[in-house]
Amino acid sequence: MTRRPFIAGNWKLNLPPEPAAEVARKLRHLLADRGNVDVAVFPTALSITAVLDCLQGTGIEVGVQEVHPAASGAFTGANSPAMARKIGCTRALVGHSERRQIFGETDRGVNQKVKACLAHGLLPVVCIGETLEQRQADQVDLVVHGQLATALDGLQPDQLSALTLAYEPVWAIGTGQTATPDQAQAVHASIRGWLRAHFPAYVAEEMRIQYGGSVKPANAAELLRCPDIDGALVGGASLDPDSFAGIITAVG
Ligand code: PEP
Repeated sequence: MTRRPFIAGNWKLNLPPEPAAEVARKLRHLLADRGNVDVAVFPTALSITAVLDCLQGTGIEVGVQEVHPAASGAFTGANSPAMARKIGCTRALVGHSERRQIFGETDRGVNQKVKACLAHGLLPVVCIGETLEQRQADQVDLVVHGQLATALDGLQPDQLSALTLAYEPVWAIGTGQTATPDQAQAVHASIRGWLRAHFPAYVAEEMRIQYGGSVKPANAAELLRCPDIDGALVGGASLDPDSFAGIITAVG
């Protein structure tokens, strides 16, 4: 089956409201004829409403970078999936390696957040990937399969159509060191194989698996040509509207 490509931009802790709105206005113009590709941006929470205003009616989705499992309550500093959905976000990043490494996010926490997103109609983009040490120790499959097993624990097959997976080798994030198409394809195929072994066949067929890690206009097309790579999660290059649009037109 053909899976519609999905390109997402993770703006991390960059672009306060007015610069974020400026990037969004440029994307609105640059991506007016983007063809057969889904696009989302994940601004910092403080810029979400400004970006939503600029992208209204464009079909470019806006998501939140981080959610807490609870819908409301005494959780200082947290973002609620219910509230994110209410203001107009459609997606949430869950389990990004920076959340895991800097903020102590666990696989079990990822699972709780995925379930909270689904309960409130927010589509999770679940990030998994190995460190350089784990790759060098030949543990790539072990690590990503373990991350998947816990992240998806307790989910019914039909719920999985709401999810996107993002394979992001930690050593490739923000380093300029992209996985080769062969390296990335091998892990994407292994992820799809794991899904096939644990869920009905349609889940693996339909699941979009993005690659993330130093994707740029110059390498996007060759990565996206791989049979199991269905899109990209883009950090640094998504801050510049021309390069983000360049990635999208390279695959659209
Ligand atoms: C990311 O933060 O998800 C990412 C892939 O970053 P970069 O594209 O900068 O490597």
